[in-house]
Amino acid sequence: HIPVQEYLTRAYKKFPTKIAIHFMGRDLSYKELYESSLKFANYLQSIGIQKGDRVAIMLPNCPQGVIGYYGALYAGAIVVQTNPLYTEREIAYQMKDSGAKVILAMDILYPRVTKVLKDTSLENIIVTGIKDYLPFPKNLVYPFIQKKQYGFSVKVEHRGINHLFTEIMKVGKAEPISMSFDFDEDIALLQYTGGTTGFPKGVMLTHKNLVTNTTMCTAWNYKAIEGEESILGVLPFFHVYGMTTVLIFSVMLGNRMVLLPKFDVETALKTIDKQKPTIFPGAPTIYIGLLNHPDIQKYDLSSIVACLSGSAPLPLEVQEKFEKVTGGRLVEGYGLTETSPVTHANLIYAEDRIKGSVGIPWPDTEAAIFAVDSTTPLPFGEIGEIAVKGPQVMKGYWNRPEDTAMTLRDGWFLTGDLGYMDESGYFYVVDRKKDLIIAGGYNIYPRDVEEVLYEHSAIQECVVAGVPDPYRGETVKAFIVLKEGASVTEEELNTFCRENLAAFKVPRIYEFRAELPKTAVGKILRRTLIEEEKAKQK
Ligand code: ATP
Repeated sequence: HIPVQEYLTRAYKKFPTKIAIHFMGRDLSYKELYESSLKFANYLQSIGIQKGDRVAIMLPNCPQGVIGYYGALYAGAIVVQTNPLYTEREIAYQMKDSGAKVILAMDILYPRVTKVLKDTSLENIIVTGIKDYLPFPKNLVYPFIQKKQYGFSVKVEHRGINHLFTEIMKVGKAEPISMSFDFDEDIALLQYTGGTTGFPKGVMLTHKNLVTNTTMCTAWNYKAIEGEESILGVLPFFHVYGMTTVLIFSVMLGNRMVLLPKFDVETALKTIDKQKPTIFPGAPTIYIGLLNHPDIQKYDLSSIVACLSGSAPLPLEVQEKFEKVTGGRLVEGYGLTETSPVTHANLIYAEDRIKGSVGIPWPDTEAAIFAVDSTTPLPFGEIGEIAVKGPQVMKGYWNRPEDTAMTLRDGWFLTGDLGYMDESGYFYVVDRKKDLIIAGGYNIYPRDVEEVLYEHSAIQECVVAGVPDPYRGETVKAFIVLKEGASVTEEELNTFCRENLAAFKVPRIYEFRAELPKTAVGKILRRTLIEEEKAKQK
């Protein structure tokens, strides 16, 4: 029952000299991380940040992001994680919605932030560059960063109160702050949803939500050894998944996080080869990307022991191949921003594979299948809405009491995902309520069709969506990315689908693309594709 940041205090006391962060050739010990976070916290207090104020962080994964996160929490603030790829409009929306007073942003994003200042309650911008934590410059092995960020200097001028992160670290005081926290009620984080199905909503996650979900993660990954593991951080920290399974999990166990500011297949492979991480949380598109690298055999990936894949369905073929290449375990889990995020996962060291299942509820988590938009339970095997109850379920949506009331009912959180439970208590996600295609009166789950398409040897990635159709209401369209060097015709795909799917589910339209639009965690943006289709038809 201690707040999130106290896990850093604990790790510092237990392992002061152990490496907390490895970032592109630079190591930070727990002592350095702890003291830097306190400097940041004291600085926030000195500029007037009080308990419950919002502090935004708009950075790729880097030491400053970790320091800013724990520093803001030590100061009693609520962290607002902001995607560094956001456009001005998106930044303005999130700053306005959250009421953030301070933003810690990357230097190259400074001009973008200054443009939205007048519409927001931001009072301070703290800037930092990737290079602030690089061993200058001989160890630079990441050319994409070197070219873009190195040598950039910031013009500091707005409302006279903009600050350089490096200055805070130089002159700041690393004094502990004493503050009382309400573990159950105090909000640690405003985490915006991924925005896959609509405008991102601010989710209020309390210290209890985050700590309990991370504790569940340690129970699930019970072979992880305190102080000994190394966690690969390619999932972005501005998304709840990377935040819990890397940023907090790593510190809770006093482990080392190996950070990459951006997911890039080759850099990730090189990093695994050199840094030997043991734990690697990811998403299907990340594992697929690595497996499709033509020189994957050149790299030693044998350090990997445990991987949790979430955010989208994990094809069995990918799971098996990845396990073969690494010798470690890769299992699928399930969760949402609203649940901090994980609610279900498959047993990591179980002998038997439950094909297509997202697993069983995590410790202390209850799960059920209800008739859609209700709390009426359905029998085993019947498709309904997945609902969960547990200490990781959010306090509610920020400033959206109606949305909160719609999704939190009788102590249950209604996920908006359709699924079913088998007689052994294993859960299966069928699709999102909003993605269901209704074509000519038939209900079609995009995932059924995608699973068949993924079995085709030429297909690297695909997504199926319901696009407007004058006769059938909606029709099934498949967007496809082929594997490098592969070719297949529309007729061939059609024949393949007809052999494996009921006729009404077979895509009527195929479109081949070089790539598909994705969210920050690599989730394919079906909504963007549907919007493009609608715009075309206007
Ligand atoms: P928004 O809620 O704003 O539309 P989002 O979907 O990206 O955005 P997240 O909270 O990041 O929001 O994602 C949660 C969703 O991810 C779940 O509701 C579910 O649809 C999907 N998901 C997570 N894990 C899995 C999985 N293993 N299999 C299938 N779907 C999954």
